[in-house]
Amino acid sequence: MNTPKLGSHVGMHGKDMFLGSVKEALSYEADTFMLYTGAPQNTRRKELSQLRIPEAQALMKESGIQEFVVHAPYIINLANTVKAETFQLAVDFLATEIQRTIAMGSHVLILHPGSHVGAGTKQGIRQIITGLNAVLTADLPCTVALETMAGKGSEIGRSFEELAEIYDGVIHSDKLRVCFDTCHVNDAGYDIVRDFDAVIEHFHRLLGKEQIAAFHINDSKNEKGAAKDRHANIGQGTIGLPALHAIVHHPDFIDIPKILETPYLPSAEDPKQSLPPYREEITLLRSPL
Ligand code: FE
Ligand code: FE
Ligand code: ZN
Repeated sequence: MNTPKLGSHVGMHGKDMFLGSVKEALSYEADTFMLYTGAPQNTRRKELSQLRIPEAQALMKESGIQEFVVHAPYIINLANTVKAETFQLAVDFLATEIQRTIAMGSHVLILHPGSHVGAGTKQGIRQIITGLNAVLTADLPCTVALETMAGKGSEIGRSFEELAEIYDGVIHSDKLRVCFDTCHVNDAGYDIVRDFDAVIEHFHRLLGKEQIAAFHINDSKNEKGAAKDRHANIGQGTIGLPALHAIVHHPDFIDIPKILETPYLPSAEDPKQSLPPYREEITLLRSPL
């Protein structure tokens, strides 16, 4: 297929659960999607038997959605060396998230590498490697995609070099992938607006461009290098529609899932209500400029 795989993050709640996620994606005319297996801020999760997995998979098959990705919750911090309980919780929870991802039928779990919370980048990276080595096994039918981060606070993964260091320490590094977030990479200081190909070339030298398993397609509210991480709607930020459109249609990544995580917009009828922009943004990115 020569059309890009485009979708957004979708919810998973209520009675429909995973089936509802697929329905939501279809309502945006998406051909892929991303979900969290529960609230991103906590570790409360429903039993697999309550997720309506068979029905969701049947609907995906019927509607031609071949691939979706899962995002691990933000509270997983594998880089924490300050609190032993936080690290252990992160490792245990990551292991169960991998199992949920497999059970739902995805092979990509997106993970924020972590924040060193004051201990320093070196220590943080070492701890992330320890954590990943505790959960990644040779025959795992799932990969963990480390997300490129904006570098706010003590976030690790703000440079391709940091991600490469993690790869270097992980025993089963063939189970690692990268999720390339356009807002984060811009905020981390890479010039994806004027020279995306040079950025990818740099990435390719360090990690290999075939390691990119997903893109997060977001505009940014901040200038390149701001280390901020505030997503803007497509065409409303400092990256702009032409650059994002070119990334979405880049021939090297046409089959890679591209996921919008742009903010909801206030409804025209009721400004107290906010509505997802995804159907319109997917159309905008899919159609020729
Ligand atoms: Fe993320
Ligand atoms: Fe993201
Ligand atoms: Zn972000």
